[in-house]
Amino acid sequence: MSISLKGPHALSFDALQRVLPKGRTGIFALGYVDSDGRFRVQSVGRDDYDVRARLSELIGSSTMFKFAVMPGSREAFEEECALFHQLRPPSTIIHPVRPRGTNWQCPHCLQLSL
Ligand SMILES: [Zn+2]
Repeated sequence: MSISLKGPHALSFDALQRVLPKGRTGIFALGYVDSDGRFRVQSVGRDDYDVRARLSELIGSSTMFKFAVMPGSREAFEEECALFHQLRPPSTIIHPVRPRGTNWQCPHCLQLSL
């Protein structure tokens, strides 16, 4: 993984309040910890405005999460793409969508098409 995600933490309101700042761009992976203690990713995502708010809406859909706060939406988009291609999360079928109003390309798909 090119980026280190923090966690895993329980996907709960308390944990989100404790570990995540408000109103920050970020990416996340949702999943669970298996019997060997390994974090298993089920899905990945990002939010360009408030990753804590996005994760709050997802409480109940998974038991654990990892996250990284990103400096901007371009970095968040590219890292979400990296997670998508590297982890192949079973519940994230559709490729990450670029932020509205941009023409940014996924660097990984670009490599594949060269
Ligand atoms: Zn791609």
